[in-house]
Amino acid sequence: MTDGVEGASGGRETWQSRSGVIGRVTGVDPGPLLLCIGGLHGNEPAGVRALEAIVATIASRRRRLRGEFIAVAGNLQALASGRRFLTYDLNRVWTPARVAAARSLDAANGSALDHEDLELLRILDVLDEVAERRRGPVYVLDIHTTSGGGGAFTTASNLPHNKRFAMAIPVPLVMKLDQHLEGTFNSYMDHLGYTAAVFECGQHEEAESRVRAASAVWLAIHAAGLLDWQDAPEAAAAFRALRRAYRGLPRVLESTYRHPIEPADRYRTRPGFRNFQRVRAGDVVGDDRRGEVAVPKTGRLLMPLYQEQGEDGFFVVREVAGVTSETAVVALAGTFPSRG
Ligand SMILES: [Zn+2]
Repeated sequence: MTDGVEGASGGRETWQSRSGVIGRVTGVDPGPLLLCIGGLHGNEPAGVRALEAIVATIASRRRRLRGEFIAVAGNLQALASGRRFLTYDLNRVWTPARVAAARSLDAANGSALDHEDLELLRILDVLDEVAERRRGPVYVLDIHTTSGGGGAFTTASNLPHNKRFAMAIPVPLVMKLDQHLEGTFNSYMDHLGYTAAVFECGQHEEAESRVRAASAVWLAIHAAGLLDWQDAPEAAAAFRALRRAYRGLPRVLESTYRHPIEPADRYRTRPGFRNFQRVRAGDVVGDDRRGEVAVPKTGRLLMPLYQEQGEDGFFVVREVAGVTSETAVVALAGTFPSRG
């Protein structure tokens, strides 16, 4: 495409198109590559919508942009039908073994491929392209939404560069979620040596989720080093707005419990539970075929399930002592403009 820009800005590609690439902006100067992906779960379109809306603006800053920005839609077929997935969960298959198996299946017999096999292979094409095109370090932001309400958070693996990248978005960072989940896209990015974080931007249908997704993308653009504060005023505005909105919540938490479920359990969360709601051990939060389901630990509830598909009924998280909202802000102060 012409002039280092392609995708939504030119109207040539939308998320329904085969490649799934929403847009790609190549800066004049070499630098880091930031890959933003939304909709790995098809009932979570907020990230895709946010990326579609801001690619043109990012493209307009191309002359000041270092490196490259790529926005991608995750599970195209599931997005089209509004379901989390069609055959299997596209955010639980990213183990080196499953990836290798999908590649060899593709080479051996394309007709045996499931819906999500095709999506996996398409995203692998994008990742191969990223590995080829990169002219510096690679950063990845994976954008999701949750079925329960109650606000946004980030997650990252327990490596300093990943935590630093996640904390550029001033919402709670939840650690150790990856201990419970195998084969997430984020874990595969870790495996590839990329700096990666997940942003859960709110409830699936909440209008604010799309706004928060856009905020996180701008903050990631700045944190990855593609644009300075003065060339990304949206990032500074996003930092202020999110910091203000999430001041009352712990800055860093960790998962202490996951309630795994299977369809045969017929698990249902009772109405009214929200992310970060305080719970005490023994509180009943749901029901399944065996009766009442209580939380086994005191803490805060995370991702209470309010949809049909999913393997996690809820998580319990607890605050990590010693990291307050203020100390985290101080840690970032060196990079944040002091006024405005
Ligand atoms: Zn998701």
